[in-house]
Amino acid sequence: MAHEHSSIAGNLSLIRERIERAAARSGRAAGEITIVGVSKTFPAEHIQEAYAAGIRHFGENRVQEWESKQARVVQLDAVWHLVGHLQSNKAARAARLFHTVDSLDSLDLARRLDRGVAGASMQTPASRLRVLIEVRLDAAPSKSGASDAELPALVDGVLALPHLDLQGLMGVPPPFGDPERARPIFRRLRELRDAAAARTGSPLPVLSMGMSHDFEVAVEEGASEVRIGSALFGARRAETA
Ligand SMILES: *Cc1c(COP(=O)(O)O)cnc(C)c1O
Repeated sequence: MAHEHSSIAGNLSLIRERIERAAARSGRAAGEITIVGVSKTFPAEHIQEAYAAGIRHFGENRVQEWESKQARVVQLDAVWHLVGHLQSNKAARAARLFHTVDSLDSLDLARRLDRGVAGASMQTPASRLRVLIEVRLDAAPSKSGASDAELPALVDGVLALPHLDLQGLMGVPPPFGDPERARPIFRRLRELRDAAAARTGSPLPVLSMGMSHDFEVAVEEGASEVRIGSALFGARRAETA
């Protein structure tokens, strides 16, 4: 559903109600779930409006786009997430510009981010950058993420890096028309997280899954963060994902 810019606060209250009901269905508290407003393609004014409505986490998918608008909103007391695929040559910039990289998908990238954090000022506390490992949930060639087989070694490698703080996993299933089809995929991501936590003894509390069309199913399957763009900000003019 496309919504108008002027109704971000209204969109947010509808999203909150839907999260509350989905959480209740699965015996969870809505307070366990963080909404990350995905503001890619939208101007800084939309971020300000969503902040005024109560959003405190924002996601962007491109380093360059965020560089062009962050000066106008960086003074807000918000957490800035990179949710899109990161090219290695932009890792140092990303480490400076974001509080969390939710789309880490290789050890090479992890090492570059770790080095980038050493000289960066954005990270609190104690100069560690929060990261989530993105697991590949969509076989389409344009999609990214670590494979199930690569995951254990990547988890171990990231946990060993001093300036990265691995908090969990992220994933994007194929864009099914029927969100129920994403349910087994969300469940698999949760099981991968549970297995990695059990194997390493690291709690990995964050499970970032669910977007505008499927966030309720993701909440039922254990999402701790949902990444919501169009249901909050309105239809994007150009799809850049
Ligand atoms: C664009 C994007 C979103 C938000 O998508 P909507 O369908 O607009 O909610 C979430 N996660 C990632 C990684 C994205 O690129």
